[in-house]
Amino acid sequence: MTRREFIKTSSVAGLCLTFNRYSATVEQNEENRMNTICEEPREIPIAIECDICVIGGSCTGVFAAVRAARLGAKVAVVEGNGFFGGVATAGLVNIWHSIYDTTGEKQIIAGLTTEVVERLKKRRAVLVRKPSAGSHFVLNTEELKIELDELVMEAGIRPFLHTRFVSPILKDGELTAIAVEDKSGRRAIKASYFVDATGDGDLIARMGLPSYKRDHLQPPTMCAIIRGLAEIKKNHPDFSLNQAVFDPKYPNALKKGFLWSARVPGAQDDTMVAGTRVFGVDCSDADQLTKAEIEGRRQVRAMCDILRKNFADDESVPLAALPARIGIRETRHARCLHQLTEIEALNGKRFPDAIANGTYRVDIHHADKPGLTFRYLDGTEVYVVPNEANKTGRWRDEVSEDPTFYQIPYRSLVPKGATNVLVAGRVVDADAGAYGAIRVMVNCNQTGEAAGVAAYLALDESKPVVEVDAKELRKTMQKQGAIII
Ligand SMILES: Cc1cc2nc3c(=O)[nH]c(=O)nc-3n(C[C@H](O)[C@H](O)[C@H](O)COP(=O)(O)OP(=O)(O)OC[C@H]3O[C@@H](n4cnc5c(N)ncnc54)[C@H](O)[C@@H]3O)c2cc1C
Repeated sequence: MTRREFIKTSSVAGLCLTFNRYSATVEQNEENRMNTICEEPREIPIAIECDICVIGGSCTGVFAAVRAARLGAKVAVVEGNGFFGGVATAGLVNIWHSIYDTTGEKQIIAGLTTEVVERLKKRRAVLVRKPSAGSHFVLNTEELKIELDELVMEAGIRPFLHTRFVSPILKDGELTAIAVEDKSGRRAIKASYFVDATGDGDLIARMGLPSYKRDHLQPPTMCAIIRGLAEIKKNHPDFSLNQAVFDPKYPNALKKGFLWSARVPGAQDDTMVAGTRVFGVDCSDADQLTKAEIEGRRQVRAMCDILRKNFADDESVPLAALPARIGIRETRHARCLHQLTEIEALNGKRFPDAIANGTYRVDIHHADKPGLTFRYLDGTEVYVVPNEANKTGRWRDEVSEDPTFYQIPYRSLVPKGATNVLVAGRVVDADAGAYGAIRVMVNCNQTGEAAGVAAYLALDESKPVVEVDAKELRKTMQKQGAIII
């Protein structure tokens, strides 16, 4: 019979800490998923006692930590990889979108996003592109890793790399510490406030805070750095990467999805290619994540073989680098005080507690059909499938004045029932359409900064996160360099 055990552990400080609401299970296999094993209670050392602990060290998490630390809090940041940056560095995704509204004239995003861009510019590690509306940035994400190290160290934050958050430690229902696993074993980090920037909502899920996953999750993509595409183009003037990899005349062609690519700044002929996609997997499930990693790499090889056999004159392997992790677009979201909706976003609804502004279009990578759908603030929409004509239309009637940007409210970062936990990045509460827009990094970055400032304000006034005064939050963010509208 299935046993579900709640485990008690105690710290060296003598605290008897109730471990979590989920049991430490060993999943035996797919058919026998509910088999469990009982872990012995044990004492674990406390690695640090701090004010604010950020879990997940992508730009979202690092920006949360930096904002809180610069305000004077003692901060720790916990990251599973050996470097910061999340999807940008571990997944190789190297584009930050426009920081202007859709007129291309009014700047709506600044803060740590532009600070990091300026720092990278000094190293020639960023290209500024100017499409019709506003600019976007192509980053050398290896340089970004080092820049994030420096940001963290300059702010006096205690970094925990190669460290996985394992479980929440609650006392009288309140989160007082987290257990992590690292090279030293299992340790605890005590803090007064926490930010869940894990992308997958690991903290909120393991605390039992309300969360949800959509039936159709946007599929993950294994990116790759492909070398020699300019050379191929030189020798084959009609060559199109987008056409080649999905062309059914090649037996190993990729299933129709979507492909985009961007040159790697500072590299001779290296291009970051995001063209694979693994359908029907939930990457917050350990077994499905493993499956997605292997299938993603298989697809990269298929793509490279098409190039090698049909276009590279010396049949050389064009693969220069694979990411440390598959790029995950979507898994779990927190149920927060407000769910941002697509209608609110695309109608440019203004919120009194707005902490972020954005213009990136609604961009849904379909889980149940090829291609993707874009919806814009001007009321238009496009369905794009590789090697097919775009299907254009309108998602709403024309209006006298189109909104030029949208906003994210603070309430979408405050999980229902939480007193000292905030979420940022992918985990925020948004419906499928709104999420399709706000999930990009220039937006996630702002949610990180807001969570860091809000956690600091809650700490400063010893109050629950829900009681953070929105006016005070916005004023403090503005003083720290954010554009608050
Ligand atoms: C293929 C692809 C292409 C994309 N293209 C773009 C693009 O061009 N431009 C753009 O702006 N956005 C793009 N996006 C979206 C964007 O990259 C992500 O939505 C965004 O980076 C999410 O940020 P995040 O901080 O929420 O999550 P993540 O970047 O996933 O960061 C979460 C971090 O938490 C860490 N973590 C997770 N669990 C734990 C744990 N238990 N313990 C310790 N650490 C943990 C992870 O290691 C990771 O570093 C793309 C996404 C994908 C997948």
